[in-house]
Amino acid sequence: MIWLRALAPAAVALAIGAALSWFVSDTVAARWLGGALLLFALMQAFYLTRVHHWAALPRKRDVPVGAGGWGILLDRLARVARQQQESVAELSAELALLHSAVDRLPDGLVVLDRFDHIEWANNAATELHAIFGSRRPIHLFIRQPEFSAYLEGDERARPLVLSLPTRPGRLFELRLHRTDDAHRLLITRDVTEQSKLDAVRRDFVANVSHEIRTPVTVIGGFAETLLNLELDDATRRTYLATILKQSQTMQRLVEDLLTLSSLDGAGGVPVEDTVDLHALIAALADEAGVLSQGAHTITTRIDGPQYVRAAATELESAIRNLLTNAVRYTPAGGRIRIEWRSRDGEGLLSVRDTGIGIPEEHLPRLSERFYRVDRGRSRDTGGTGLGLAIVKHIMNRHGGRLQIESRVGEGSTFTLRLPGRRLMAALPTAANDGGAGAPAERVDGTDSAAA
Ligand code: ADP
Repeated sequence: MIWLRALAPAAVALAIGAALSWFVSDTVAARWLGGALLLFALMQAFYLTRVHHWAALPRKRDVPVGAGGWGILLDRLARVARQQQESVAELSAELALLHSAVDRLPDGLVVLDRFDHIEWANNAATELHAIFGSRRPIHLFIRQPEFSAYLEGDERARPLVLSLPTRPGRLFELRLHRTDDAHRLLITRDVTEQSKLDAVRRDFVANVSHEIRTPVTVIGGFAETLLNLELDDATRRTYLATILKQSQTMQRLVEDLLTLSSLDGAGGVPVEDTVDLHALIAALADEAGVLSQGAHTITTRIDGPQYVRAAATELESAIRNLLTNAVRYTPAGGRIRIEWRSRDGEGLLSVRDTGIGIPEEHLPRLSERFYRVDRGRSRDTGGTGLGLAIVKHIMNRHGGRLQIESRVGEGSTFTLRLPGRRLMAALPTAANDGGAGAPAERVDGTDSAAA
């Protein structure tokens, strides 16, 4: 009880005063009481001064200690001050954590006051907009007129896409959010990759539409003619053959598109089958012979391992694409040769032809979707423009790559380079017969002709 502790010295002084007046004299008692009063007043002045001194800088100074009633009061004050300091420290730590997290964000964040002056900016925003100084208007750092219009407009409007002088060649999306009546948050995000992807997607859709439009128009035109005109049998058959050819082109396009989309959606790693490449090459060489209808000499030379670890359907599709191209782009009488060998730990499967060849400037873009050297020729031979894109995709998934060499008028060589880890010295199971267990480097000594 603070009042008891405060009054106790006064009560003791009074009791001593009364005793002095009783046993000694009133004068001595009066002096004693005067002295006690003076002492009491001095003590109050002393503590008041100390508290006053502390209150001037409460965060830097310790709360003074005291005796009696002052002791209780000052103890309590010290406890309150300590609690306050602790919660300030906790808040500061949380704020520091938040700041360092926000500073690590790749997106730029700027807090604007009601006059669009910068109140705070994270590291990314400071670098992106080259912000310096404090409380400067944001338009000093983002000077494009469209940004000023955006600042003045409704922040719910579409975000603004801009390029920034600090990052040439890249695109940024700027978005304003109102946080409260007096503040707005400006977020700056790098959208270069996203806009590239958007452009690729737009081009892809435009290309697909274009590819589909031609056969659909031809089919529609011929069907209409067949419906409206009385045609002789031979002409009718020619028209129907054209319709069939165009519908087959569309079918191939849809198949290639489906293959691409299933490769896109299949994740990064292909299925790991054990593929008998010797058998696969022989089968595909036969298939190419059928496609060529005897117009080409097709040979194989197999020096590489019999088995590889790969997604069987994908590897088959890649080789078939190369062989189909070789047949399509090699005039009758030409030669096509399939070679399988391992060199420097890599597996190399080449399809060589003595066809029309490809001008050098086209080589780097050949495996882009819908890229063709000669659009007319590709269409005439039933091409979709997606074959090499599919091959490249499959090789990437297998950790390998597609290599293209060509000379105009002399021919081309397309090589699938499979990484060494995909080549198998022998079949893993003992259950297989001699052929399977035979050394992987079985050489088909002489070339074999498939057509
Ligand atoms: P397409 O269906 O048009 O053949 P691809 O992606 O398979 O599409 O090939 C892209 C282009 O590469 C072809 O249009 C063609 O110009 C060229 N090309 C592919 N293979 C050969 C080849 N063996 N000889 C010459 N040119 C080729």
